[in-house]
Formats: sequence, C-alpha cells, structure tokens
Amino acid sequence: MRYLSTRGGSPALPFCDILLGGLAPDGGLYLPETYPQVSRAELDAWRELSYADLAFAILSKYVDDIAAADLKALLDQTYTAQTYGFARPGDDPAEITPLHWLQPGELALLELSNGPTLAFKDMAMQLLGNLFEYVLEKRGETLNILGATSGDTGSAAEYAMRGKPRIKVFMLSPYGKMSAFQRAQMYSLTDDNIFNIAITGMFDDAQDVVKAVSNDAGFKAKYRIGAVNSINWARILAQIVYYFKGYFAATRSNDEQVAFSVPSGNFGNICAGHIARQMGLPIAQLVLATNENDVLDEFFRTGVYRPRSTAETRVTSSPSMDISKASNFERFIFDLVGRDAAVVRQLWQQVEGGSAFDLSGTPYFESLRRFGFVSGKSCHAERLATIKTAYERYGVMIDPHSADALKVAWEHPQPAGVPMLVLETAQPVKFAETLHEALGQTPKRPAALAGIENLPQKVEVMAPDVAAIKAYLAAHI
Ligand SMILES: *Cc1c(COP(=O)(O)O)cnc(C)c1O
Repeated sequence: MRYLSTRGGSPALPFCDILLGGLAPDGGLYLPETYPQVSRAELDAWRELSYADLAFAILSKYVDDIAAADLKALLDQTYTAQTYGFARPGDDPAEITPLHWLQPGELALLELSNGPTLAFKDMAMQLLGNLFEYVLEKRGETLNILGATSGDTGSAAEYAMRGKPRIKVFMLSPYGKMSAFQRAQMYSLTDDNIFNIAITGMFDDAQDVVKAVSNDAGFKAKYRIGAVNSINWARILAQIVYYFKGYFAATRSNDEQVAFSVPSGNFGNICAGHIARQMGLPIAQLVLATNENDVLDEFFRTGVYRPRSTAETRVTSSPSMDISKASNFERFIFDLVGRDAAVVRQLWQQVEGGSAFDLSGTPYFESLRRFGFVSGKSCHAERLATIKTAYERYGVMIDPHSADALKVAWEHPQPAGVPMLVLETAQPVKFAETLHEALGQTPKRPAALAGIENLPQKVEVMAPDVAAIKAYLAAHI
C-alpha cells in the first residue's frame, strides 16, 4: 500500500515514510492509493475479534512495511483495558470502546473517551506514540515534538509519548487559561521527556510561536522538530477501527446497517467513518454535528465551504470543536471530486487565498448523498437542554461535545432496525462547569483522578518570545 497526496504533486510513499511527517511536500494530505475492500466473509470473521485483533486485521490492509508480528505486538501493547480503563460503571473496559445503549436496539453511546485524558484523542494518540517509538528505534533516530494546545490534543500527546526514550515533547499552553483539572492533567506529568511550557498569552500566541519555529527550516532540521497534528494519517487510520467495533457491538448480522453521529471539528473523526464506509462497512448514514462554529454544517447543507477568520471563530462550551477551518476536510473533498487532484488544487487555491468555494449546482454536490452524509448543529442552550434530557430520560451524564452529537442525531431519525450510535468523545467530568449549569450537579470523578490538582507539577512559564523558546529547545534537546 502506498500513500499519495490529495494535490497530486508528491511521490507515492509507504506507510512508515509518511508516519512521522505532516503535510505532503506539495501541501496536500496523504491518503491510501485505494481503500481496501472488506468482504462479507471477512466481516463475519471479524465480528468476534478483540479490539486489538480487529485493529490488526484492519491496519494490516494499510501497513505493509512493518513486520506483521511487530504490528500485532504494537497493537496488543496499545489497546489494553489498563490504558482505556475509565469505562462507564457496568461497562467492560476490555471492550476498549464499549457500547452503552440508551434505548436498546435504537440509540447508543459509543464510548471513545476511556483513555488516560478522558477524551477520544487518546484512541489514536496512544497508537501514534508506540508507532513513532518503533520506527525511530528501527532507524536509530530521535524526534522532538513541538506543539501548542488549549487542552485536549496536547495532553493526549504527552500521555502517549511519556517515558519514550527517543521522543521529547515540548508543549506550549496558554498560562492561566486552562482549568485547574486540565493543568493538573498535563503539568503533573513529571517524566524527563515531557516539557510543559506555559506561555504568558493566549492560545494563538502559543501557536504563533510554534509556527515561527517550524517555519525556520534550518532550526527544524538541526533539532529534529516534528508535530502530532490532526492531519497525521496514522491518527485517521487508528480511528477507523472503532467504527467497525461499534458496528459489531450494535448488530447481530452483517445484513444490518447502523448510523453514526459524530461531534466534529477538524473532520478527523468522521473522516475515519467515511473511510470505514468506503471499505464496505454497512453504514446507513454519517451524521456530522457541529457547534456554533458551523463551517462543516454549512457545507453539507449548502455546498459552500467558507472557512472563517479567527475573529469569526467563537469560544463555545464544546471547545474541542471550535475551529475556523477543518484541516482534514480536503481528504473528503478529494474523494468527492472523484480523486481528481487538479480540482482539489484549484479549490484549495481559493481557500488559501482566503475565499470560499461553492460546489452547489455541481454533480459533486449531487453525489454527497451517495457518501451518506447529513449534518446539523447546536448552540449552547441546546447542548444544555440535551444534557438535561439525556440525564432525565436515560440516567446518563454526557459531556457537551457528545450532547451536540446526540442533539443532531435526534434530528435524523433512522428507519426501524438501524441503530444510531452517538460517538462519545469526552467524559462529562472534564466539563464539570457546563454539567453543573445543565443539571445543578457535577459528575463524579474517577477515583484514580481524585486530587490530581495536589500532585507536584512540572511547568516552565515563558513569554511568547520565539528566540527565547528556541534557546530553551536548544538547551533541552
Ligand atoms: C477533537 C475533538 C472533537 C472533534 O474531532 P475532529 O476529529 O477534530 O472532528 C470532538 N470532541 C472532542 C472531545 C474532541 O477532543
């Protein structure tokens, strides 16, 4: 299997050669040359597999430059009940992504947030950590990951890379802008290879520093600086697995179909669902849910993709979906336009020039239905109401991101016999304030995380000064 760029101007490469990088050299995103097809016989054989074995069956179709026994070992090491131990009471952590029925046979939560940071980024990031270490070891190389975070991604990366001898993580976060719980989650990691840098400024200031450092090609090469951004192909690949797992958990035979509702930001999660469907998984619909930052909902309703400015991007109660443009969306458009890289190049020339593109009235827009997508959005009040209804009706507390997906799922009822699986992307305890606003009470914290605010913290406070950050990196690499 080789990987090509959505812009058609980069050589096709095997998996390990695109693993550590970000964008393709021509500015596009990597995708497999073709989507491997899954036969009915394979689906039958996969139905009873454990999560790690299912992951092996799926990833084997995409990765042919890691020895099978090594890939198997990496997956066994990654998807364990210990790492994904925060299942809802009564659900089995050995399932890794347990299915929690709200209305048996009709509506369920697929728990994707049982990993160490209680958000779905752990599903892919834990594997990425093990894959990175494996490939670096093979090549005798080391890597220094530099990133900026306002919460979820940065801590998922740190938990995935901690203790790995060939990797160091330098994570910039906005000083005083994260909750005490988020700070404790990140800064209490005292591993030698984890460097928390709190920037006296906003998230954007931290991100600007990262961009400035990454744009210095000489510095980047000399200090082997890399990233773990949301466009990394291996992250998408890892996420395909739980669509299959959720399907098997919700159905008895492969003649059945299911729908998924996905709280979406950068289009990474639902892109994996799209690929699972292209592989032949019987998915009736992919329901894309956004918050007030509705650039994707607008596209699926109107055919117009209009990335927003930073000023237009709102801070919401589902902050992990607060995006101005959806960085993985180009992957879907590549498929939508029949994998014509010239069309993608032309559309993204418009996007990068700061304007929108409009596919309404084109055959491409007509074919959206063939890809199974529908969409919707929620506002803060609607998420609060959904959290309340879910609690009253089903006795579960859900976080505001999952509430967004549940709200939009209700707007897209499925035919009898097609269960709707709502992807639960974070645990409610991470958003205790919003839960309190909705329910007048806060979720119980898992015992293992009690009092983490009192643990010793390791963090350096620095100004958003590019030269100073470079000096810090040079001194610690
Ligand atoms: C990242 C994230 C999302 C959005 O996922 P995308 O892959 O960016 O679409 C939704 N919910 C939570 C809790 C997240 O952390």
